[in-house]
Amino acid sequence: MVDHDALMAMLTRLQLTAIRDQFDSLLDEAARREMTLREAVAFLCQREVARKDERRVEMASKIAHFPTMRDLDGFDFAAQPSLDKGQVRELAACRWVAHGDALLLLGPPGVGKTHLAIALGREAIREGYSVLFTAAPALVAALAKAHADGRLEERLAFYAKPKLLIIDELGYLPFEPNAAHLFFQLVSRRYERGSLLITSNRSVGEWGTVFGDPVVATAILDRLLHHSHVVTIRGDSYRLRKKRRAGLIKATLSPEQVA
Ligand code: ADP
Ligand code: MG
Repeated sequence: MVDHDALMAMLTRLQLTAIRDQFDSLLDEAARREMTLREAVAFLCQREVARKDERRVEMASKIAHFPTMRDLDGFDFAAQPSLDKGQVRELAACRWVAHGDALLLLGPPGVGKTHLAIALGREAIREGYSVLFTAAPALVAALAKAHADGRLEERLAFYAKPKLLIIDELGYLPFEPNAAHLFFQLVSRRYERGSLLITSNRSVGEWGTVFGDPVVATAILDRLLHHSHVVTIRGDSYRLRKKRRAGLIKATLSPEQVA
């Protein structure tokens, strides 16, 4: 007969921490539900696997550098009727990530682009893909600095590594001429290897202005749009909608005036 402490020590050594921590309650539940031995072992394993998956998602989310935590459950589709819920559910299954496709989330400020980008990033992590989130200005600044320091290759390799690279807020700031070229190098490096998720408040037609160079913009778009999904969100800013409802601002103010 193994005593309790020895059993706990073995569970620790096997890193079965969920089973260890909830041992008594799990066995009680198994008894209450009149499980067979086989069912009880499967039940314990399920709990352990669930805990390990949860830990893995939390750890990978830290590595992904999400600016905040958002998930699809927290997204109010009723507030955003221009968005096709079925399409978002389909994207959440991450087949586009498996294929290395690009996803563009376009729309005015406050409509939930960043929220959806983070939520889809979390889904990709759940599916086992590596993810990195970065804001476009920070990405471009990092590439420019690496270029100046003679370490561009290293930096490009860093951004090429994750299976899904999320680039948020492309277009809020126009690019420096050299930046467009650095961005092009990144897009070519990842092309058909890893997925890009890009959010932008500018329509694809305006990207020439964003990149400040129509030739480079065309080359970038050529690669991005080759295997791509485009989701355009129209409608009101979610933040302003809430404030408007609370009577804090007048309905006549356009999102641009406030953003
Ligand atoms: P964008 O990136 O398009 O400017 P965000 O994703 O940053 O917009 O959204 C602004 C805020 O409103 C965030 O806190 C986000 O979680 C919330 N939000 C936006 N749309 C929705 C929605 N449909 N349901 C729930 N929260 C939303
Ligand atoms: Mg945003």
